[in-house]
Amino acid sequence: MKFTKSGGQTAAGPEDWFTGPVSIDGIRNPDDQSAVGAAHVRFSPGARTAWHHHPKGQTLYVTDGVGYVARRGGAVQEIRPGDVVYIEPGEEHWHGATPDRFMAHVAIHEADADGQVVTWLEHVSDEDYAS
Ligand code: MN
Repeated sequence: MKFTKSGGQTAAGPEDWFTGPVSIDGIRNPDDQSAVGAAHVRFSPGARTAWHHHPKGQTLYVTDGVGYVARRGGAVQEIRPGDVVYIEPGEEHWHGATPDRFMAHVAIHEADADGQVVTWLEHVSDEDYAS
């Protein structure tokens, strides 16, 4: 068993991959023993990921606030604490906060054979965000 006390440093979501302030607390990174990665991600009001997809899919567990999730070609869906969203491998999507509320979720995903958990695409336009 390995126990890690609360600590470390919250990382800022890089501007290349996120719109608006996003804070990321790592839970685990894929390693030799397990391909599973997980993080607790907090989005400020209006903040969201860029469009992206995951080679092995992704599960989101909403822990706080009110957010949005959308897949390419689909309607924007509201998500609230306790909601679980499963994103299929290769499914293009984004997630983030609503314009007026913070949103936090735990993100769980698996690395592929190359160690990748995500492929980033373009930013989500204000038009797509508002639709
Ligand atoms: Mn995702």
